[in-house]
Amino acid sequence: GIPLDANLDWKKGPCRFCGVGCGILVGTENGKAVAVKGDPNSSVNKGLLCVKGYHQIMCLQSKDRLNHALVKKNGKYVKTPIHEALDLVASKMKETIQNHGKDSVAMYTSGQSTIPEGYIASKLMKGAIGTNNLDCNARLCMASAVTGFMTSFGIDEPMGCYEDIDYADYFVTWGNNMAEMHPVLFSRMLEQKATRGAQIIDFATRTTRSSSASDQSILFEPQTDLAVANAICYEIIKNGWVKKSFVEKHCSFNKGLTNIGYGLEDNFSFTDKPEKIDFEAYKDFLKDYSPEAVSKYSKVSVKDIKYLAWIYGNPNNKVVSFWCMGMNQHTRGTWINNLVYNIHLLTGKISQPGNGPFSLTGQPSACGTAREVGTFTHKLPHGVVTNKKDREMAAKIWKVPVEQIPSKPTYHATEMFRAVDRGDIKFIWTQATNPLVSLPKTSRYRPGMQKESCFVVVSDVFPTPTSDVADVILPAAWHIEKGGLYGNSERRTQYWEKMIDGPGETMADAWMFIEVAKRMGYGDLFPYSKENHVEEIYTEYRQFHEGAKHGMAPLDVLKKESGVIWPYVNGKSTQWRFNAKYDPACDNGEDFHFYGKPDGRAVIWQRPFEEAPEKPDQEYPFWLNTGRVVEHWHTGSMTRRIPVLHQAMPNSYVEFHPDDAKKIGIRNGEKIKVTSRRGSCILPASINERGLPTKGQVFVPFFDENMLINDVTLDAFCPISKEPDYKKCAVKVEKA
Ligand code: SF4
Repeated sequence: GIPLDANLDWKKGPCRFCGVGCGILVGTENGKAVAVKGDPNSSVNKGLLCVKGYHQIMCLQSKDRLNHALVKKNGKYVKTPIHEALDLVASKMKETIQNHGKDSVAMYTSGQSTIPEGYIASKLMKGAIGTNNLDCNARLCMASAVTGFMTSFGIDEPMGCYEDIDYADYFVTWGNNMAEMHPVLFSRMLEQKATRGAQIIDFATRTTRSSSASDQSILFEPQTDLAVANAICYEIIKNGWVKKSFVEKHCSFNKGLTNIGYGLEDNFSFTDKPEKIDFEAYKDFLKDYSPEAVSKYSKVSVKDIKYLAWIYGNPNNKVVSFWCMGMNQHTRGTWINNLVYNIHLLTGKISQPGNGPFSLTGQPSACGTAREVGTFTHKLPHGVVTNKKDREMAAKIWKVPVEQIPSKPTYHATEMFRAVDRGDIKFIWTQATNPLVSLPKTSRYRPGMQKESCFVVVSDVFPTPTSDVADVILPAAWHIEKGGLYGNSERRTQYWEKMIDGPGETMADAWMFIEVAKRMGYGDLFPYSKENHVEEIYTEYRQFHEGAKHGMAPLDVLKKESGVIWPYVNGKSTQWRFNAKYDPACDNGEDFHFYGKPDGRAVIWQRPFEEAPEKPDQEYPFWLNTGRVVEHWHTGSMTRRIPVLHQAMPNSYVEFHPDDAKKIGIRNGEKIKVTSRRGSCILPASINERGLPTKGQVFVPFFDENMLINDVTLDAFCPISKEPDYKKCAVKVEKA
């Protein structure tokens, strides 16, 4: 009811939710946030927001907000002064390290943590304590994008920017329901469709809201995107659409190991062994992927495969490929990322306005915090733990002995919770994430978190099924109740200042880490002030990029702008990396320079089609696919507390193709039990509602903590990225 031009104190910041990173303006009055509108100065969203963005601050009115620390005593939570709770956390962490060693403690953070929070988590775990037991929930959504970039380009994050949307003739979305998951970007695409005739091709395993707004919807059998991508390359070569001058100068060819497993067993490890090949060998490999051959098992018609190849191959077409979880949450997630890069590299359609592969993120700072700062087990704020020079740089900036930083990665997300279950990890601290709803095959990991052998600390804004098993619950400040920086999908770093005080004893996560670090005796390493720690930490973090090709903008610039894209060089953002026209780091005199690779060449990978670990059979005849809906943010811990969003989408459901529903004899809304070899979940049927799975497939959104579909999913993962596959497992369905 507050007019958008109301005379409030308006402050700029990023949206709290998805990786699009829309700019918001928050109106405050008498110390309360009372209104939100889109920031017209943000080039991301130009004033527009989606339904989650507009209503975000309403979650702060929820009555069950965590205002005070809670400590479990004799099975009951007791309200405890936060400084006592932090004393307990520090003493437990110290005692565990003394009794069981550094690798008995772990931290599991989030792509929703701010850049300073991720940085301090890394400094505490890797620099002060000396363990690489730090991983984050971006492992569950983005890790395959990272390994895709690293293996193809040797450097992480997309090379283009959202402005690509303004120039492309075609958008090909790979398993990506952007209308619901990246709604503001999808609106920008629809605007280009309406004004310039740009076309949207939706390539997916089910029909969604994105499909209905697209020019063409092409459906494929789960897992066969690998084969279709190879078939597109087959056609590109066959029709002479390879941009030879680009490929000869800027690409090399590799093949990796095959039959690489699915990570289902404990302590699974895998290292790829790339082998150089030449164009002829690559072409020979593709001979099994003719459109005719692939059409038989992908269920994509020969005509549609040829059409996709033409879109990419025709030199007159500008094409942007978009993807997110559909490709990343895949037992061959790294491979399918590589394969889409192959298409863009063969045709030279990369890193130019309107031409490029674009991997999107789901969380607001999956890029900024998880990938750039590096809250993955193998990462450092610059580079990786396995690289001596990177460890030396971290040791110098952190002022710790270099031997203190271990050189081997330890547990990625899934393996971390397996280690909790085995009793190898005896202390775990999770922040801004809800693993007991979001982990695949959650039923396997819940008992470990409930064991006395592991001390569990959860910092969050609201209670969740994860905080329900905690020994200590720490009340976290929401994003506008603290300052911070996020990094979105287009490498845009966005700063915001603290706008309001949080209730009770809520505290910024970064400050909780610092308080615990001080109590553990590491005070000298964390000399920040409570008022300015965000700015002080970011300034320290920027030291990692001094002289590097991917420096971030300084704070004074970020304070003025609605986000700044990195690399920020000589006072300017670099919108298209690796292209000498735009990127000053291209210094080899060529038109393109993939400087992430020692030879300056991007890699075209030979990656075959391999089957999913579990396929429908007689006993479990349906594919299960899981995902999100526009109303809810991930596990719903915030959006389910926003009345208008809860009313719009009060509970999860299981979506059927009408023919399957008819065959089983079920009606819309009827309770259905979805069962896999791991567990079951009861949900109402949804037929002909929002989405339409292909026959033989069901789809379930995962936001609903009362209907835990992740008890049903499989904890198989991509052996290279270690990202789980939430999109494919076998289930049976019956009336409940
Ligand atoms: Fe927020 Fe994403 Fe919606 Fe933009 S599209 S308003 S960033 S949830």
